[in-house]
Amino acid sequence: MKLGKFHIDAFTDGTFTLDGGQVFGVVPKPLWEKKLSSDARNRVRMSLTCLLVQTERVNVLIETGIGDMFDPKRADIYGVDHSATSLPAELQKRNLSPEDIHLVINTHLHFDHCGWNARREGSKLVPMFPRARYFVQRGEWEHAVSPTERDRASYIEEFFAPAEKQTEFLEGDAELVPGIRVEVVPGHTRHMQAVRISSEGEQAYFISDLAPTRLHLPYAWMMGFDLYPLETLENKKRLLPQLAAEGALVVFPHDLSTPWARLEEREGAVSAITASPTPGYFPTQDVDSNAVSVSE
Ligand SMILES: [Zn+2]
Repeated sequence: MKLGKFHIDAFTDGTFTLDGGQVFGVVPKPLWEKKLSSDARNRVRMSLTCLLVQTERVNVLIETGIGDMFDPKRADIYGVDHSATSLPAELQKRNLSPEDIHLVINTHLHFDHCGWNARREGSKLVPMFPRARYFVQRGEWEHAVSPTERDRASYIEEFFAPAEKQTEFLEGDAELVPGIRVEVVPGHTRHMQAVRISSEGEQAYFISDLAPTRLHLPYAWMMGFDLYPLETLENKKRLLPQLAAEGALVVFPHDLSTPWARLEEREGAVSAITASPTPGYFPTQDVDSNAVSVSE
């Protein structure tokens, strides 16, 4: 779709699953399972949403999905499914090759956000996007290469380290190209960055895991993974009403039904205005039994 002078387009790098308790944190299962069904292993299926922003001069890719470098055991644990689509297939559909991507922005380096930063070439790992500059917060990188016992499973160095030479390490908020700005929003990790896209007065906001799906708009609904949940809460209470007031198109990283929605604030609560699935966003959406029920 058009956003001012830019063109923005969301797609997903297939799907994966996470334990429902990890996805909804302190929210009890009887509440979240009314909105999102889980499988026999208590897992919920999620998208791996990437946002392509095309300005007049550059192609910018926000997030690179989960990639194809998982060993079979982990691919099973996380239910990785590329049978319907993948990031390379989605680029191809748009007549883009990896060489055409000029900037890659990773909001953070959890494995489901940077999977295609690199790829295998024979026995070597090489950057997936040979001509791109990659942007990540320096603090996030430093944490990713030496995580704690609590979040060690979330980082896989092979996914992001091969692109180190092309990576620019940011220290705080920054405008990367005119109209594309990263903003640090701590909570999920200390240095996670969201991305604000502005053109001709129109706004889009890649909110990253501050609200992984539109079901995470209620303030208390946040992931169990969050390292600093009270900061997630504080940032949601500050940002969501602001994004609602701006009429910004908010892009969620893991919502299987719709990549984006505008928000409204009513009586102190923020919800999505557009709750219906976005047609064509995910190819096998209607046959997927885990699709979000549109019941709000
Ligand atoms: Zn994450």
